Formats: sequence, C-alpha cells, structure tokens
Amino acid sequence: MTSTENETFADYDTAEWRAQTAVDRGIRDIVVRTSGPAAFREEPVWEGAKSTHMVADAAASIRAAIMIRDRANYELDSLIRKARGKGSTWEGIAVLLGYTDNDEQDNTPAERAFYFAAPQTERFTPSTTSWKCSKCGETIIDRGPFESHPEDNERGHRGFEEDKPGKKCPRQAAAVEAWAKRNNW
Ligand SMILES: [Zn+2]
Repeated sequence: MTSTENETFADYDTAEWRAQTAVDRGIRDIVVRTSGPAAFREEPVWEGAKSTHMVADAAASIRAAIMIRDRANYELDSLIRKARGKGSTWEGIAVLLGYTDNDEQDNTPAERAFYFAAPQTERFTPSTTSWKCSKCGETIIDRGPFESHPEDNERGHRGFEEDKPGKKCPRQAAAVEAWAKRNNW
C-alpha cells in the first residue's frame, strides 16, 4: 500500500487548503455579485473531459482577486498594529512574517518587519506607523526599531510627552529602564 492510498480527507484539511478554499469561494462570490451569472461559462474540467464545471470570467476573477488581496493586506496591517499596541516587538512581528537573518539584506528582520508595516511613500520622509498602547491608552507614533533609546522610536506614551503629563506608561518606563541597564546609565 502506498502512502497515496492511505490519504484521507483530513490530509487535505491543512491551513493552506483552507486558505485556498476561502479565496476560491471569495472570488466566486464577488464575481456573482458584481457581474452576475453571465460571467460564468461551462467548461470541461480538463481538456477533452466529458464532465464540466462553471468557470468565472477571467477579467472579473482578476478584479475580485485584487479586492481580496488588498483587503487581506489591510487586515494584516491592522492586526500588526494591534499586536504592537498589545506589546509585540518588531522582532516578534518579524518572526510571524517569516523574516530571518539574511546576509544579503541590509536591514535586520525587525527593521524589515517595520518597513513591511510602514512602507516609505516619500523618499526623504521617514515612514511611521501608529497604534494604541494598551498600557497607557495613548496613540503612539512608531518610528521603527532604528534608534537605541525607546523614546526615539516610540512617541506618545503617557508621562513621556510634555502634552501628556501624568503617571508614566509602564510599558515605556520598562523599556527605558532596560535601555538604561544595557547602557550602564
Ligand atoms: Zn504607553
């Protein structure tokens, strides 16, 4: 008995298979809603086959696939910002994105993760992203993991800005303390 004969339905029920199914279904749904049944044509399941299936119009499918891709990217951006708000580091985000140390890359995985979330749109303007800090409730401007001091990387935590007085944000306070320890300050 070969391994193929042992395969069960469960073998196909992988995350990738689910992603493929969700995208296929999404494309069909969007084409049905935007172009109607006229956008589908009956075609043989493979060349010369007797049995047929309904294939969506290529242009309508491409437009639908772009919508799904753009929406997934938007969702990904929003999930990354939420994770940052809850305390994930850019190093941690880099691991999730599958970025590893690579001699051919000028930037560290953490820096590449930041650039993924905050692409540079204007040549001489540093890119930023923003998120809500779950510890102090403030909106933070994130300039990326480039500087040594936490206050140069993240602006806006409560107690660290002149216009945001009050009890120091414990997250930023811990980061500053760790920086001081690292640098024997
Ligand atoms: Zn904070």
